[in-house]
Amino acid sequence: MLTFAIGTLAVLVLLAFFRAPVFVWTAAIGVMGATWATVLGFGAVLNTSLAAAFVALAAAANLPALRRKLFSDLLLAIYRRILPDMSQTEKEAIDAGTVWWDADLFSGRPDWERLLATPAPRLSAEEQAFVDGPVEEACAMANDWEVTHERYDLPPQLWQFLKDKGFFGMIIPKKYGGLGFSALAHSEVVTKLSSRCNALAVTVMVPNSLGPAELLLHYGTDEQKNHYLPRLAKGQEIPCFALTNPEAGSDAASIPDFGVVCRGTWQGKETLGMRLTWDKRYITLGPVATLLGLAFRLYDPERLLGGKEDLGITCALIPTATPGVNIGRRHLPLNGAFQNGPNSGKDVFVPIEWIIGGREYAGKGWMMLMNCLAAGRSISLPASSVGGAKALARVTGAYARVRSQFKTPIGKLEGVEEALGRIAANAYLMEATRVMTAGAVDLGEKPSVISAIAKYHMTERARACVNDAMDIHGGKGICLGPNNWVGRGYQVLPVGITVEGANILTRTLIIFGQGAIRCHPYVLREMRAAKELKGEDASREFDDALTSHIGHTLSNAVRAVVHGLTRSVFATAPLGAAPETRHYYRHVTRLSAAFAFLADVSMLAMGGALKRKEKISGRLGDVLSMMYLVSATLKHYEDQGRLKADLPMVRWAVRDALYSAQQAIDQVLSNFPVKALATLLRWTIFPLGMPFRPPLDSRNHECARLALEPGAARDRLTAGIYLPKGEADATGVLETALLATVACEPIEKKFREAVKSGALAPRSGVDTAQLARDTGVISAEEYAQWQRKETLRKRVILVDDFPQDFGRAEIMEKLGDARTVHAKAA
Ligand SMILES: Cc1cc2nc3c(=O)[nH]c(=O)nc-3n(C[C@H](O)[C@H](O)[C@H](O)COP(=O)(O)OP(=O)(O)OC[C@H]3O[C@@H](n4cnc5c(N)ncnc54)[C@H](O)[C@@H]3O)c2cc1C
Repeated sequence: MLTFAIGTLAVLVLLAFFRAPVFVWTAAIGVMGATWATVLGFGAVLNTSLAAAFVALAAAANLPALRRKLFSDLLLAIYRRILPDMSQTEKEAIDAGTVWWDADLFSGRPDWERLLATPAPRLSAEEQAFVDGPVEEACAMANDWEVTHERYDLPPQLWQFLKDKGFFGMIIPKKYGGLGFSALAHSEVVTKLSSRCNALAVTVMVPNSLGPAELLLHYGTDEQKNHYLPRLAKGQEIPCFALTNPEAGSDAASIPDFGVVCRGTWQGKETLGMRLTWDKRYITLGPVATLLGLAFRLYDPERLLGGKEDLGITCALIPTATPGVNIGRRHLPLNGAFQNGPNSGKDVFVPIEWIIGGREYAGKGWMMLMNCLAAGRSISLPASSVGGAKALARVTGAYARVRSQFKTPIGKLEGVEEALGRIAANAYLMEATRVMTAGAVDLGEKPSVISAIAKYHMTERARACVNDAMDIHGGKGICLGPNNWVGRGYQVLPVGITVEGANILTRTLIIFGQGAIRCHPYVLREMRAAKELKGEDASREFDDALTSHIGHTLSNAVRAVVHGLTRSVFATAPLGAAPETRHYYRHVTRLSAAFAFLADVSMLAMGGALKRKEKISGRLGDVLSMMYLVSATLKHYEDQGRLKADLPMVRWAVRDALYSAQQAIDQVLSNFPVKALATLLRWTIFPLGMPFRPPLDSRNHECARLALEPGAARDRLTAGIYLPKGEADATGVLETALLATVACEPIEKKFREAVKSGALAPRSGVDTAQLARDTGVISAEEYAQWQRKETLRKRVILVDDFPQDFGRAEIMEKLGDARTVHAKAA
């Protein structure tokens, strides 16, 4: 009996585990039920009744028409009542873009073979030449201190260089005179620029992300494209995109800026147009823009366009020279010194043809913006964050080796090592995520949820890196000046956190909120069946989605328990993956099943209220995000040829992410509103307790060593950033000082040992190295080498000081009025 009971349970578990179709379940239950009835000897009457009940249930489960009548139609009616209505803008946000690896992670059964079979993203020879040529040159022309303290702008020759070399037209196809670069190349360019100067990176990022060029490419009329794209590609037009209003920031769909369709006089002729009134702030490149991409709500009270009165959000291109456009004043975003400012207009009349895409696109602005953002968010901010993180890994590692306290390089003190190791491992994970995400865009995806994950986590990890770097630099990072290479990065970091969807909102509303609807295999189908379909179509679609959904949930529950009880050993991992990382894939497969089950139960338990329970949805989003970051890290390790020297960073990053995912699940369960369900979920997800542990200190030590040691692994970790050549620049001096310090370590060891053994007696006021030379402990060449290192070290630890006015009088005399430069250029 016991064996038979175990066998029955095993069959049920296997059916659920492998998500068997309904008819297989029916057949298996029929056979097992008949066997049990025989074994237990129920007697004819009971057997007949049970058989009849089974046949009735089997028919209901297997005959869709009957199942719908008895079961799904009733649920559909209830679901329709409880499902909150979605606004048009919410619908457009949900529908925007595509799903990719995020859908696999939501399925409970990620197809690792498919992910690893995706080719490693690579630059073309032309793109590589651009990164090695003009991008290097642009970096060399940008002096961050001059830009952020003296000019509050890029120098005019750099503006011109960017225009001449096509930096503003990276996304514009060649047929319009642009560079026609891949998403990866675009991301690579921004990575390098941001490792040198934030204002330079932002200036290049904006024309290549959500704004006039991108909107025109997707939605513009031929006439608009032919006119504007060549001009934008060559920098003859400087674009900006204005959505944010003082009253509407995160809730951008509620902008009060408006246009009214009307007739008016344009260039002496009566013309159908719009009278626009707007008040925008924070607009990047706004103060120097010649072409304003403007978002506003369009009304057509006289039905001149033949449709509704409230047409909705609309995007138009307004040359900033148009009478009535107020533009040019500046904000000062955390001393970043990129061009950013407000603009406004009142009753400005413009032709209706200025709507992007023409009058057919009146009212379609929100859909256009959401679709462009779905891909665009994958590139600019992840790339600029990665550029910053890699640069921090490089300079902080070097500084921590050159700077000594307590007669030890500070990077070798365990407390500092902990922070440095984190920077290195985070930079590795961030690079992996940047490359995989840009690669997805190049495969044709517009991954709306993944782009939110990349934007949120890359900017947050950059923030973690810069905080660690600041701590390691101590006072050197705090006193601003040309010799401080971290302070400005620390200052401007919150800009990335705030723009393209402020991070708190992105985490709590978009990643899980949008993910649960878009990436879930069945939820969107159920919602559409309930809200968009009618009659028989709705019934069929809902029934099909619902039955599949039930199978999906049941299967994920069983898989979560089985993987939990077996410590993921039966979870899938790709056959071709490196043996040293294969167990990580299994852990993610386990987490994916647990997450899918948890997400389903959370939606069932909280319904529409989950949207307002942002502490829960934010943590669910964290689990999804961590699985994505681990996937990217593992794929990067494969794509880079399984370099063993990089393994400590892979191990640290993966363990850290798995542990964070586990913490997030634990916190969801601890705060789950239905306590009985929380207990059930905990038994299902963590049947043997919580399995993941934080990264080991030994791994952290290896990661820190990698940042401290000049060599191939450090170069690989920081590949793609700008490295100043020579000693004209503070970070150039730092690089040379690092090499000199490492080379002098054996020399230092010699005279330290001599002091210890008593062979050398240090005297106050006399340089010990000099004494060591004079007493023959080190040679004259070694002493010269030591002296050179000391000169470099002193330059590295140097902190800037200024006259009382911080040199403003001298600077103003040198530069004149910076605005005149743009006015002349315009
Ligand atoms: C330097 C800079 C450059 C910019 N460039 C441009 C540009 O070129 N064009 C343009 O149109 N705009 C631009 N912006 C505007 C930017 O997109 C907005 O700042 C952003 O949308 C946030 O709006 P807000 O600043 O008004 O903050 P608020 O909307 O007031 O948000 C404040 C806080 O509340 C949080 N929050 C809001 N709603 C929710 C919610 N439902 N759930 C949880 N948290 C929520 C936010 O995450 C944020 O932390 C720029 C801003 C800056 C600072």
